Amino acid sequence: MATKNARSLQASTKQEATADLRRWLGHLAKDNRLAIAREGISLVDELAAVSKKLELDQTVLFPSPSGHDIPVVTNLFTTRSSVAESIGVRDEELLAKFQDAARNPLPCREVATGPVQEVLHIGNVDLLKLLPVPKHNELDSGPYITAALLIARNPRTGRQNVAIHRCQVSGPDRIGVLLLPRHTLNYFRMAEEAGDALDIALVIGIHPVCLLASQAIAALDEDEMEIAGALLGQPIDVVKCKTNTVRVPADAEIVIEGRILPKVREPEGPFGEFPQYYGPRADREVIQVDAVTHRRQPIFHTIVGGGYEHLILGGVPREATLLQHLQRSFPSVLDVRLPRGGTCRYHLVVKIKKMSDGEPKNIIMGAFGGHYDIKRVVVVDQDVNIDDSDEVEWAIATRFQADKDLVVISGAQGSKLDPSSRNGISAKVGLDATTPVDAPPLDFKRIRVKGEENVDLSKALQPSAARTYEHFGIKVEV
Ligand code: MN
Repeated sequence: MATKNARSLQASTKQEATADLRRWLGHLAKDNRLAIAREGISLVDELAAVSKKLELDQTVLFPSPSGHDIPVVTNLFTTRSSVAESIGVRDEELLAKFQDAARNPLPCREVATGPVQEVLHIGNVDLLKLLPVPKHNELDSGPYITAALLIARNPRTGRQNVAIHRCQVSGPDRIGVLLLPRHTLNYFRMAEEAGDALDIALVIGIHPVCLLASQAIAALDEDEMEIAGALLGQPIDVVKCKTNTVRVPADAEIVIEGRILPKVREPEGPFGEFPQYYGPRADREVIQVDAVTHRRQPIFHTIVGGGYEHLILGGVPREATLLQHLQRSFPSVLDVRLPRGGTCRYHLVVKIKKMSDGEPKNIIMGAFGGHYDIKRVVVVDQDVNIDDSDEVEWAIATRFQADKDLVVISGAQGSKLDPSSRNGISAKVGLDATTPVDAPPLDFKRIRVKGEENVDLSKALQPSAARTYEHFGIKVEV
């Protein structure tokens, strides 16, 4: 009780509101961007279907899905602008802010207790009874926890890593998890070589900035939760788990505590992934669940595999990393985008203030070195709106000649999830869609109609045009 009072005192002296999921939902609710579904939507397929339908429009809260006590929320981000908004910056400041946060992380603040441990279930956990875990895409093997931060500690240094992994509910207290060759797998291999399990926590329901930060391309032992703190401008409060030493956000909704077991692999998948195809079933690592802790009335967050929220969450942090990577060598690079059509992973558009004619090809080669997922690079001039795929296509249509502006590289490393690759061996293509430096001014002068941007339709049009049709001899069809 004493610690609880100490905490509320500490909270009341804080300048900012708590950086939790509810703060973001409250912000969305203010502008009617948080839809409430009718009660009892099915956790199997139906919840994902409604979410997909609204993925570019509204965040959705589902009360009692399949009769479950705990509500589910989806679509925390519905536009690229909403990502900038969650960090409190304008769209054009988003990548710079993200880079700044990755360079200047803010250490977490450890607290003795937090809302996420108001209710404890230690031992004998039944995940599907406790939590409303949906099944998302048609051929998914079953219910998946898709929006959990997997937090693990380096067994040697004690530093924490934060990542999102797809988690298949395989049994009452068992989870199949896909570990791609990044930091979680690195920590797990250290533990497994010593014959140990790796202690982990799965954190569900946090401020979306924590999800974004988890996707930063940081170095090993750089704690992504500290990047989240920098993005929010306030340290994330963390609390120690009940059954292991992992520190989790104290203001989260739900935490699953457990261990990735050494020398155990069990079937996981298929699961609908970001390229809009299924990741196949195979033997993968297994989490043994030891405890579930949560708020008194928690909210469960889920991300539909391959949906817009999934794409944009991975896309923006990668853009920030790629922009930084390119600007290190090429000062003419102004901005980059990973458009949705390229699944926010494979296709990159680079906007430059062109200085010399050879440079776009160097930039193309540099971009391939920035991330192995990059499969196609288009370089455009600064007058092209790279948020509009039609404009990029127009630049290719009118500023690109395949016999001299094309770069093709075969047999490089690509994405294993790209079904057209040979198990990840992939070709790369680069398109220089920039205008020549010495082009005569009128050759690439974009047409425009003077004054279009200043037209006021309330002044230009008659209030009710219908009255005047007959005056022009036009008979209104009935
Ligand atoms: Mn990491």
